[in-house]
Amino acid sequence: MKIMLFGPQGAGKGTIGEMISEKYNIPLLSAGQMLRDAMKEGTEVGKIAEKYINEGNLVPPEVITDVIKERIIKDDCKDGFILDGFPRNLKQAELFGDKMDEIDYMIEFEAPMEVLMRRLTGRRTCRNCGAIYNIFPECAPHPKEEGKCDKCGGELYQREDDTEEAIKKRLNIYKEETEPILQKYNNRVVKIDAGDNPQAIFERVLKIIEK
Ligand code: AMP
Repeated sequence: MKIMLFGPQGAGKGTIGEMISEKYNIPLLSAGQMLRDAMKEGTEVGKIAEKYINEGNLVPPEVITDVIKERIIKDDCKDGFILDGFPRNLKQAELFGDKMDEIDYMIEFEAPMEVLMRRLTGRRTCRNCGAIYNIFPECAPHPKEEGKCDKCGGELYQREDDTEEAIKKRLNIYKEETEPILQKYNNRVVKIDAGDNPQAIFERVLKIIEK
């Protein structure tokens, strides 16, 4: 099963993506997390990506498309995968080529701007495994122990691009660059309300997948 999750930053693609991944035992491939891992490891891709990511801009389409294409041929993707944050513009969709036709479900998460802002400014990410948490009471999930990842014990940190200024820029890029993909594939994209809690959103996703 091959799934593409669309939606602005903070819509819950990462959180719900992890829930889908656990239920169906297929990997969640977060384009942003893969780039952050490359930065941490100091690879060539990481060195190229760093400047773009820290400024809240998209990395060049060829770079990210190659990263994704190389990742989905790995053995753990043989039964499918969930793509979160790829493609981000029409050029990337075009470079992905025939693989766009092989996607079983394209799901778009929709949430009001105030909800996105709150989720993003409160978001804390595990430095080690990339798991996502939130510090605000109304935004789940919360770590059991403050500042520490439930899954691996790693340190939770606020991403440099989760500041209000960088968030506004990224949301703008989403509108201008990513929304045209949704228009192009509008007969295949299913929209869901992603404004409430993770369990409710996850159930909406399951309805689509299990129909
Ligand atoms: P995210 O974790 O999805 O918020 O992505 C963080 C950052 O990684 C983005 O602001 C971009 O700089 C970069 N990035 C993630 N996915 C892509 C993509 N598909 N194309 C280009 N840049 C990306």
